[in-house]
Amino acid sequence: MDVALSKDDRAFAEQMREFFITEIPSDIRERLARGEHATRDEIVTSQRIMNAHGLAVPHWPVEWGGRDWSPIQRHLWAEQMTLAHVPTPIVFNTAMVGPVIATFGSQELKERFLPATANADIWWSQGFSEPNAGSDLASLKTTAVRDGDTYVVNGQKTWTTYAQYGDWIFCLVRTDPAAQKQRGISFLLIDMRAPGVTVRPIRLIDGGVEVNEVFFENVVVPADQLVGEENKGWTYAKFLLGNERTSNAGVGIVKNRIARVKRLAGPLLDDPLFRARLTRLEVETIALEMSVLRVLAREASLPPGTPDPVSSVLKLRGSELQQEASELLVDVLGPSALAYRESTAVPDGFDPLPEGAVDALPTYFNWRKASIYAGSNEVQRQIIAKAILKF
Ligand SMILES: Cc1cc2nc3c(=O)[nH]c(=O)nc-3n(C[C@H](O)[C@H](O)[C@H](O)COP(=O)(O)OP(=O)(O)OC[C@H]3O[C@@H](n4cnc5c(N)ncnc54)[C@H](O)[C@@H]3O)c2cc1C
Repeated sequence: MDVALSKDDRAFAEQMREFFITEIPSDIRERLARGEHATRDEIVTSQRIMNAHGLAVPHWPVEWGGRDWSPIQRHLWAEQMTLAHVPTPIVFNTAMVGPVIATFGSQELKERFLPATANADIWWSQGFSEPNAGSDLASLKTTAVRDGDTYVVNGQKTWTTYAQYGDWIFCLVRTDPAAQKQRGISFLLIDMRAPGVTVRPIRLIDGGVEVNEVFFENVVVPADQLVGEENKGWTYAKFLLGNERTSNAGVGIVKNRIARVKRLAGPLLDDPLFRARLTRLEVETIALEMSVLRVLAREASLPPGTPDPVSSVLKLRGSELQQEASELLVDVLGPSALAYRESTAVPDGFDPLPEGAVDALPTYFNWRKASIYAGSNEVQRQIIAKAILKF
């Protein structure tokens, strides 16, 4: 990748690296480097440090804290952040609702929400999926019925990531049940502390609680918390999902996992079959990185708010490579990957477990999610077939 970078780009990357390794507390970065998850407070702390330096939301409009950076600079910012093991700013804030409000929201909504969203003073959750509306999102049934200056919301969302931390939730709601599916949906901002909102956790296969169900029972929402126009929510959702898929390429995540694989591989590195597997993963990661840069460069030439179906390719390939890297890590660790956290005390005469061993298998299981969320990979293939290959 470095061969494609100009001298200025390399200097920029170095400036970012320097910032991340000096300003973000090392205890946070060391934990993430071992493969552990960032806590809520660690994510908020790092985002606030970045925001104080004007580095939390560089892809937003400049007047709302964005930077007039090239796509390559934006990419280098994200890459150096991941490589320095800095928690990514809250994706629901920075990559999802922030750009939607900045592009489609009223001036009042922008002033009310964007500064707090950039600074992680609000933790946003994403209320799109429902029990019978995941891939077929436009079938969603949560209703918002207009009543004077308010909407009354009833229904259920599911798989809501980190809703246990959520202060506010941006929801797709049905405002016109008579209209054709996509045409009756609106984009509504809801205070999760409002009466009638209930969050129920879902336990995952890795043992963690990362996703939740969110119930709405006669929740009264001021009508001025509608983003854009009523019944135009599907347009805003497509814009958001396009951004989400570009950010889900996760090149830095794959690179970090490959680096850990190399640190742990030892004599396996001399095995030609292993080397071939590792090299193929590395080459495909570089190819993905080049594609990310191309998509970002194209994005600059599209009118604001235009969804780019090529982002589906990045989501599809990125999630596959993230999963491959997590599988390789488990394979390299061999039996050590089966270690339980409780058994990490090392008896006399035994070597300690390799770095990150206890997190490798939970990470492998946890990362099965990557081919499901942000639109499953089968659905990405449908989008690619229809919108790009024109089948
Ligand atoms: C860890 C995790 C976090 C998530 N976080 C959030 C969140 O914060 N907010 C939110 O709103 N949602 C979230 N989601 C939900 C996610 O977007 C949905 O799970 C996803 O869209 C798939 O929907 P579904 O689970 O209902 O599966 P279904 O749509 O029921 O799909 C089941 C299977 O059928 C396949 N399938 C469905 N339709 C087609 C088709 N037309 N052609 C071919 N195959 C098809 C799918 O690929 C899948 O394999 C999260 C999901 C996960 C796993």
